[in-house]
Amino acid sequence: MKPINNFVQNMPPSGIRKFFDIVSTMEGVISLGVGEPDFVTPWPMISAAIDSMEAGKTSYTSNMGLLSLRQEISKYLFKHLGVEYNPDNEILITVGVSEAMDLLMRALICPGDEIIVFEPSYVSYKPTIEMAGGHSVVLDCKEENDFLPDLEELKSLITPKTKAILFNYPSNPTGCVLNREINQKLYDICNENDLYIISDEIYDRLTYDKKHESILEIPGAYDRTILLNGFSKAFAMTGWRIGYACGNKDIIKSMMKIHQYTMLCAPISGQYCALEALRHCVPQSDEMIEEYRQRRNLIVKGFNDVGLTCRKPGGAFYAFPSIKKFGMTSEEFCEKLLYEKKVATVPGNAFGKCGEGYIRCSYATSKKKIIKAIEKIGEFIEEL
Ligand code: PLP
Repeated sequence: MKPINNFVQNMPPSGIRKFFDIVSTMEGVISLGVGEPDFVTPWPMISAAIDSMEAGKTSYTSNMGLLSLRQEISKYLFKHLGVEYNPDNEILITVGVSEAMDLLMRALICPGDEIIVFEPSYVSYKPTIEMAGGHSVVLDCKEENDFLPDLEELKSLITPKTKAILFNYPSNPTGCVLNREINQKLYDICNENDLYIISDEIYDRLTYDKKHESILEIPGAYDRTILLNGFSKAFAMTGWRIGYACGNKDIIKSMMKIHQYTMLCAPISGQYCALEALRHCVPQSDEMIEEYRQRRNLIVKGFNDVGLTCRKPGGAFYAFPSIKKFGMTSEEFCEKLLYEKKVATVPGNAFGKCGEGYIRCSYATSKKKIIKAIEKIGEFIEEL
């Protein structure tokens, strides 16, 4: 048989998957592993999707997505960020942020282009860049900087081949959030070096101490930023697969071409569900966020009380405690914790080399399970 694509064949599998494969063979595991809301999609949203199906809306939509949804997203972004995207040609509805990221990389990258990725980062960024023919260049973000980028280091990574910087705040996996001062400096660097800014803001609503600050609020950023966002996290809609990309019309047009030839459109029922989310279900989203806030406080205090050093994350639904003092790698720690105490977490190095020495713990699970997990982690640490 002729060989299949060896670039893809040699690509390492996601470090998260490997762990879930072990978890799936075990019984009675408390999982702090999954980056997915434990809530069911709010009922009015499900009901709106059912109504749309009953009304016979089971077809393709426009390639760009339902105009009514794009209009609603445009209003939402204007209200929260003060930026005005034209629903006709600057907003594309996608199959989650995952598809939006893939489309963007393929639309943006010329062979050999470099994209600077802030790590620790979401696991799909580097493979998506590389599959599109680009090179990912890593900027390590360290705990001593609150996992924010070191701007001098960022400047030192820029070369004539650099096309864009890519980041995600509130961050998966660190929970860290951005502030206006850093946003301004990031924008200035990108402006001086003519770089695109790719901002994955999928956790924008999940902040606990202050409102999310987007780079788009910086004057001028609108012109060189591509915003990626979606409904999976804040509206508990992971399975409906609805995201969106916003940016200048030329980029959106190129992304749309790939989308129309590969995906055609995002699922129509999911789009009706998302429409209901923005029109009527922000209060339900706020209730879930309030619950995450309480869980965040619970897990951070609990970890520190049992000797697992943990910063207070400002957003998303992840804690990222340090395990450096235990003299084990992240993988050793997570594996031992899983086999000995049946608590599943994710090794920090799954999110990049600088995630080594940390573990990611999702608090998108009930308080009862979080309390039990803290207790078991406490026993584990004592027995070490
Ligand atoms: N971006 C980040 C930072 C994520 O954490 C995730 C999912 O965990 C995604 C994108 C993918 O989201 P979606 O369900 O919209 O494809």
